[in-house]
Amino acid sequence: MDFQLTEQQEFFRKIIAETVDRIILPRAQKIDESDEFPWELWREFAQLGYMGLRYPEEIGGMNADKVTSMIFYEEITRGSVGFAQSVIMNILMGTHFLYRFGSEEIKKRCLYPAIRGEKIATICFTEDQSGSDLAATRTTATRDGEDWILNGTKMWITNGPICDFATVLATTDPSKGMKGLNFFLVEKGTPGFSPGQVIHKLGCRGTVTGELILDHVRVPSENLLGEEVDKGVVYLGEILNEIRTMTGAMALGIARAAYQEGLEYSRRRVAFGRPIGTYQLIRAKIAEMATEMEAARLLVYYSAWRMDQGLDCRREAAMAKLFATEVCLKVVDEVTRIYGANGFAQEYAPQRHFRDARFLLYGGGTHEILKDFIGRQIIGRLD
Ligand SMILES: Cc1cc2nc3c(=O)[nH]c(=O)nc-3n(C[C@H](O)[C@H](O)[C@H](O)COP(=O)(O)OP(=O)(O)OC[C@H]3O[C@@H](n4cnc5c(N)ncnc54)[C@H](O)[C@@H]3O)c2cc1C
Repeated sequence: MDFQLTEQQEFFRKIIAETVDRIILPRAQKIDESDEFPWELWREFAQLGYMGLRYPEEIGGMNADKVTSMIFYEEITRGSVGFAQSVIMNILMGTHFLYRFGSEEIKKRCLYPAIRGEKIATICFTEDQSGSDLAATRTTATRDGEDWILNGTKMWITNGPICDFATVLATTDPSKGMKGLNFFLVEKGTPGFSPGQVIHKLGCRGTVTGELILDHVRVPSENLLGEEVDKGVVYLGEILNEIRTMTGAMALGIARAAYQEGLEYSRRRVAFGRPIGTYQLIRAKIAEMATEMEAARLLVYYSAWRMDQGLDCRREAAMAKLFATEVCLKVVDEVTRIYGANGFAQEYAPQRHFRDARFLLYGGGTHEILKDFIGRQIIGRLD
């Protein structure tokens, strides 16, 4: 057994942590309060090369292993969740299918500029009537000669209102359920493709989220991102573990940011003539948070390590996302208690962490879905 990060991984953490401390953390409160996409920060950050984190060096990437990628996701989320969401969308879900299946032309037009941070990517699964249940997807893809015609409305799309291109999940036949799903590339400017309503959120402010409307959008056959028709669910399975583990790493990032605030406050806040950190009940909170965060960290990095080893990690990825998120929700709650009334004040960070952490409950699988999945994996199919 070896619980050590490699020297390169340690070095990577040091560099990205310093970058986060220098250019993201100081802007986090303002990003949250303004709820505006931080274009200036995006451009500055894009120049550092991280947008190509998981792609090969030949195409401008960093060729990071999964453990290193999780270090990145944890650190950037510690800085600002809103900003992290937009960046991670470009790095992972928004570009993965273009890298896997896009033609060289598509890569030149969309993937490489996204890796340079010059274009903004997104992925569209969710609709009004389908979230967890992708088999209920109603956005249709209909053949018309060599082209496809897409019709439907996507909801809750991160970067949706400002994206340059989107990977869109659509079905060739709603009655086929999971067996009719496909991913298509749709670029900004394609007739019939437009942003709809912007969604104003409780947390993760600063990332722009909203509807995307597809009204008779015509795309050429090369925009079908897959080797075969109707295999979308198989292709999604290739990155689901990475998405879930990544969400666990984001949970660690939020938890660490909140925990640090709570720890420092417990040292400096005086009540009844003593720092509150000298009271056993406050120490118990610190002890429980530190212990549970350590356990969450082990699960997240164990799942990433299994991915790097090429081992099955479906169960570990689901557990990592589920457990790290629950730990994070507890930590952000406890820190607002340690802060007393100041935990309720907008000028301090704990309320932001408290709001931001809620989003972890949805992406990568809700906790009801994840528990059902883990339970089924353990018990086996009985029906
Ligand atoms: C900030 C944010 C950003 C997002 N970004 C994107 C994005 O970029 N692209 C995108 O496509 N989507 C995005 N989403 C949407 C997200 O993926 C969905 O919210 C998620 O898939 C859950 O779907 P839903 O919200 O429709 O909930 P539903 O699936 O309608 O679930 C509602 C409730 O029912 C429960 N439930 C459902 N099925 C079962 C079951 N079988 N057993 C037990 N309980 C069940 C759920 O656990 C939940 O508690 C985003 C969401 C948020 C909050």
